[in-house]
Amino acid sequence: MTVITRFAPSPTGTLHVGNIRTALHNWMWAKARGGRFLLRIDDTDAERSEERFVDAIRADLAWLGLHPDAEERQSLRTARYEAVFEELRAAGHIYPAYEMAQELDLKRKILRGRGLPPVYDRAALALTDEERARLEADGVRPHWRFRLDHAAPIAWTDLIRGPQHFDAATMSDPVIRRADGSWLYMLPSAIDDRDMGVTHVVRGEDHVTNTALQLQMFAAMGVPAPAFAHEALLTGAEGKLSKRLGSLGIDALRDDGIEPAAIVSLLARLGTSQPVEPHLDVTPLLADFDFAHFGRAPARFDERELAQVNARIVHQLPFAAVADRLPAGMDEATWQAVRPNLETVAGAAEWWQVVEGPIQAPAAGDDADYLARAAAVARTIDWAGDPWHALTTALKEATGRKGKPLFLPLRRALTGRDHGPDMAALLPLIGRDRAIARLDSNSVA
Ligand code: GLU
Repeated sequence: MTVITRFAPSPTGTLHVGNIRTALHNWMWAKARGGRFLLRIDDTDAERSEERFVDAIRADLAWLGLHPDAEERQSLRTARYEAVFEELRAAGHIYPAYEMAQELDLKRKILRGRGLPPVYDRAALALTDEERARLEADGVRPHWRFRLDHAAPIAWTDLIRGPQHFDAATMSDPVIRRADGSWLYMLPSAIDDRDMGVTHVVRGEDHVTNTALQLQMFAAMGVPAPAFAHEALLTGAEGKLSKRLGSLGIDALRDDGIEPAAIVSLLARLGTSQPVEPHLDVTPLLADFDFAHFGRAPARFDERELAQVNARIVHQLPFAAVADRLPAGMDEATWQAVRPNLETVAGAAEWWQVVEGPIQAPAAGDDADYLARAAAVARTIDWAGDPWHALTTALKEATGRKGKPLFLPLRRALTGRDHGPDMAALLPLIGRDRAIARLDSNSVA
């Protein structure tokens, strides 16, 4: 059996971390098993769907490296939905209902007021042919409900949540089609999963009730249902569903200097029993990806954790992967030297400035004589070897300084900063002439 998964976003906005996570897990599950990953654009809602969001979703998935094996689009499949709808209707699985939204609201209010679950009372099913004809003659167009089978137990073993049971009698027959003929999400999704051979539906736990209803739709169509994995939702670091999380899209993350591998590394493991590890290559993450590792508690997404994973990814990035994003002229040796100090690739610009100059060094103060001596020594050492070692060894001998008093004034004078990349790696890049000039300018009292 070829594993087939699908990511089914509605193009009513851009992707945020929550649905990126869903996309990633669908992709991983399929790829780990040599299967296929589909992108299904759920654009039945013509009013809210926008082409620019379809483009953005494609671009975001591509940036993350989640390449779909095929793309499907619900708006192109309405003839198919129509055909299945007619079959199900002829078989008595679908019925017309005529209530207005206000009327349904009122019914629900009354039930709630009595402490009862607001389940649709199936009044439309009780209509006689004459009553229906009269309503239609009055110009009332029906919407359509899927008739749940109250006698059939609803049960499945969720790959994350374990055994699930629902009682159809406690659920409203879902509206599947509006009076204007447009489709709601529920039935087209089940038809697509069937037609596209989807073997595993991976989605957020906000869809658990939909799954209960869709299982009955698969049964009505006479086909087996796919397996389901419903993931606990993401929450913000502060424990509540954070507003920022919902708006945290790929654009914002990319602007913050977050690498796709950092997002993949974090979201692959977040909410599982496995440690989050920075992986440049997703292969090791695929190898042990399993829904069995996922917990049922909401997973906490923490932007600081993402930033930390990102830094550890940046520290591994080879020059070739970043060359086109580095300041003009910055070479591989400089990248290697500064990489361990970066949180983002963009941070390399600061160190390129330090190498190239000019830099702003703090006043030498009490260290002026020491730096004058350093400038003199710098003129004598072999710059082709390990100039930092040569410089500091000579200065140690000459001055008796060691530790911080030996190193820090040099770092300050040479880089204008108290901290930074390893000076042994940095100094050859700064080079003899610039280094001497910086030590000289500092030695002027
Ligand atoms: N378009 C639906 C959503 O974005 C898809 C849900 C599903 O995966 O079936 O929620």
